[in-house]
Order: sequence, then C-alpha cells, then structure tokens
Amino acid sequence: MLIVVLAPAGAGKTTLCRDIRKTVANLAYSVSYTTRNPRPGEMEGQAYHFVSELTFQQMVDRGEFAEWARVHGHLYGTAARTLETVLDRGEDILLDIDTQGARQLRARYPQGLYIFVVAPSMRELEGRLKERKSDAPREIARRLARAVDEIAAWREYDYVIVNRHLDEALRQLACIIEAERCRTSRLTLT
Ligand code: 5GP
Repeated sequence: MLIVVLAPAGAGKTTLCRDIRKTVANLAYSVSYTTRNPRPGEMEGQAYHFVSELTFQQMVDRGEFAEWARVHGHLYGTAARTLETVLDRGEDILLDIDTQGARQLRARYPQGLYIFVVAPSMRELEGRLKERKSDAPREIARRLARAVDEIAAWREYDYVIVNRHLDEALRQLACIIEAERCRTSRLTLT
C-alpha cells in the first residue's frame, strides 16, 4: 500500500511522518530526490537524495519519476523504482510529498491511501510558520496563501487529520493505516 501524507507548510507533516515510523511496524519510507541543499544534520540517502538540477532533469527526461514538482523554488521527485521495489514485495511505503505530486500519483496509483493533515486554524498555522523562524515575512505570506488553495482541495483525499496535538494526530494516523491494512479489498490470500 502506498501511503501519501500531504499538508500545507507548517501543519506538522514532517514530524508526523518521522514519528509514525517509530509506532507503526513494517512501514518503508520513500526517500525523494531534490535539488535543494541539505540542511544541517540531513544525511544523503536518509532525508533525501541530493542531486544537481542537471541530474534531476536527466531523470525527468528518462521518465524515472513517478511524480515530480517544483516546490518553493526547488525540484523534488519520487523515483518510480523506489515505489515499485517496495510494492512488488507487498510492503507499505510512506511518502511525504506536496499536493502537486499527490495529484500525479493519484492518477498512477488510485488505490493508494491519501491523507491530508491540517493545522486547527489559519491563525495557528501562521503562528507555527512564524515560530519556525526559518522564513522571511514575505515567504510566510506566500506559504499561507498557498495553504488556502491546498486546504480548499481537501475533498480530494481519503482522510483528513486535524493536527491539534502531535500525540493525537499520530494516534489517528496509526489507526488509519492499521484499518486500511485490514480492508478486504487490500488483502490477498496466499
Ligand atoms: P522540505 O524542503 O521542507 O524538506 O520539503 C518541502 C516540500 O516538498 C514539502 O511539502 C515536502 O512534502 C515536499 N516534497 C518532498 N519530497 C517530495 C517529492 O518527492 N515530490 C514532491 N512533489 N514533493 C516533495
């Protein structure tokens, strides 16, 4: 099962995706390719595969991406081979990608599980973006405007998690994954 977690910037998606792998067993993680520079502490092959624009473009030309998009000025993509290797083994894989990429994946993998995470309010989202202190006010305004568009499309997804408290959101995400694992249409008899 392909498990795609989506959210506007600041909703807490990255933390959720990191922590859920500690609570739910047998969950592989899809390491994306990106042209952005590594942040302090980010290791090649763990957070991302860090590549040049040229390498990324060559991968696009060779059709190696299941989806890719430009997000906040950088290129990000999921290699089709990463997904297929895991899915062929009958395992589950978690993806932390943006909403443009999710639309592309939905066309390719309609049977995937698409989960949208939102902050409890726009005020809270703004507060969280300011707290991160990593973005200039103009960038925060840009991300908030984008969040409005992304939230408007909430019906495109299978589930919505309102991230008020991390523990509660984590529990909900774990429950959704466990329930989907029991869905008869996902089971095969061996
Ligand atoms: P960051 O640079 O903060 O790690 O990620 C920025 C945004 O890019 C996040 O919304 C993240 O989910 C998204 N992203 C990360 N990897 C991919 C990917 O492979 N494809 C797409 N479409 N978005 C990605």
